[in-house]
Amino acid sequence: MNESYIGILYIVPTPIGNLSDITSRALIILKNVNIIVAENIYHTNILLQHFNIKNSLILMNKDNEKKQSDHLIDKLKEGQTIALVSNAGTPVINDPGNLLIKKCHFFNIQVIPLPGPCAAITALSASGLMKNRFCYEGFLPSKKKNRCDLLYSLREETRTMIFYESKYRILESIQDIIEQIDENRHIVIAREITKKWESIYGDKATSLLQWLKEEKYRYKGEIVIIIDGFKQIKNKNIDQKILHTFLILKKFCSFKTSVLITSQIHKVNKNNLYQYLIKNKSDKIN
Ligand code: SAM
Repeated sequence: MNESYIGILYIVPTPIGNLSDITSRALIILKNVNIIVAENIYHTNILLQHFNIKNSLILMNKDNEKKQSDHLIDKLKEGQTIALVSNAGTPVINDPGNLLIKKCHFFNIQVIPLPGPCAAITALSASGLMKNRFCYEGFLPSKKKNRCDLLYSLREETRTMIFYESKYRILESIQDIIEQIDENRHIVIAREITKKWESIYGDKATSLLQWLKEEKYRYKGEIVIIIDGFKQIKNKNIDQKILHTFLILKKFCSFKTSVLITSQIHKVNKNNLYQYLIKNKSDKIN
């Protein structure tokens, strides 16, 4: 059994836009700890000044996280209390801090998390796409090939998916979602949540892209993308007429072409039909 220490690391979420979203407990902790560890000193100073809090700040970002974690562990071992904050939202959620937390657990140092703002969960709560199971994917990869590979691997993900995205890539990413996942998949864009120009808008992927392209301001600022999960076509839901058309076409064309023509004749989603037929390939389709 490791020795245990009296130092405590508090994980303190901060507002993602509206400063009134800070909790009174967060303010008490920020006021009373020995050290606040911030991702950006300038940014956190603005927050502290707003709430009239004076305290010592130490910088920890992705560049110095390893070195700084060792130094902070020494402080915690001495019995100091530390609050970890990021620029906005919950620390560690696509922000630095995980290494420090891991080390705290290793050295048996108490870690106390505070609940509070997080863009992913706030966006999800308003998306109308929540069905009790979701997955958080963080930022979509910036390289097109990596992004497309990831999206393709998620095309049959049944849970609601949450992504962070930059305003510079949003149009490209929605286009990739259309190509790799499904042009008809429902997507919600939650932008500038809790801020003055907050907006939440959802539609099927192609219509959403069209809508975004109409006005530049519609994709300005900070963005969360929520994608509805994949819905499997159940056997009983597929019309026998659709299957019949497919089977006739299949005698003359490739599998893919038959799916495409069938989906156009019967006005059904080609990806869903494709997935259904692939799943049932072993029985009656071939
Ligand atoms: N730790 C933060 C959290 O708990 O949400 C996330 C940090 S991550 C570096 C920043 C990304 O979160 C932004 O690029 C954006 O995708 C999303 N985000 C942060 N604030 C937001 C807001 N007010 N509205 C929409 N998205 C936001």
